[in-house]
Amino acid sequence: MSRKPFSIAIDGPAGAGKSSVARAVAAELNAMYLDTGAMYRAFGLHMLRKGATNDARAIVAALDDVNITVEFVDGAQHIFIGDEDVTEAIREPEVSMAASDVSAVPEVRERMVALQRKIAEGHDVIMDGRDIGTKVLPNATLKIFMTASAEERARRRCLELAQKGRPEPYDKVLQEMKDRDYQDTHRAASPLCAAEDAVTVDTSDMSFDETVAEIKRLALKAIGKC
Ligand code: C5P
Repeated sequence: MSRKPFSIAIDGPAGAGKSSVARAVAAELNAMYLDTGAMYRAFGLHMLRKGATNDARAIVAALDDVNITVEFVDGAQHIFIGDEDVTEAIREPEVSMAASDVSAVPEVRERMVALQRKIAEGHDVIMDGRDIGTKVLPNATLKIFMTASAEERARRRCLELAQKGRPEPYDKVLQEMKDRDYQDTHRAASPLCAAEDAVTVDTSDMSFDETVAEIKRLALKAIGKC
């Protein structure tokens, strides 16, 4: 590549549409898409299986026992614990809070951030998560803080679960989302927040296609200035 690779950071609360939008924009811009939440989810699943998602000492000890890797198969991200492909398993609802629990441990974040930077090195990349603009890619070409009202995010998550044949009551989904956002926003290590130089995109009243078009527009403008 003769030019410098670009990097786009997309942060925001659960269910704001970050992953699906980032994946679509990455495909249009021919960039790598890295879902960093999947990495915390994989480690969260590992600790959930050990029954120790709130035991900081066990969590830190497990970091050296477990090998979490990311592979791209036909452009789609797969995540592994050792040899086990856990790409589907990490989407189970109970893994969400487990990921949030383990992600609050500074040593876990250090390990994941190093891995994320290594995977993205040398590539045009779009990464989504909670600390991409503030920590992982502080010099990103473009930083987006994508948000939506909690009610709209819960409504979308309910729809997604129903489409998977796993309906959950709206009130339960809304409460779980609020609890996880509270925990992610209030932890000491890299709490969820917008980077000072991030552009906030509120998708509450935007369709998926409108959001993709807006992020693509912002991306092309930022890349053009490189
Ligand atoms: O994005 P997703 O909902 O899959 O992330 C699961 C959890 O992983 C989040 O609630 C958050 O606690 C953690 N996470 C994080 N930093 C990231 C990505 C995810 O702390 N960059």
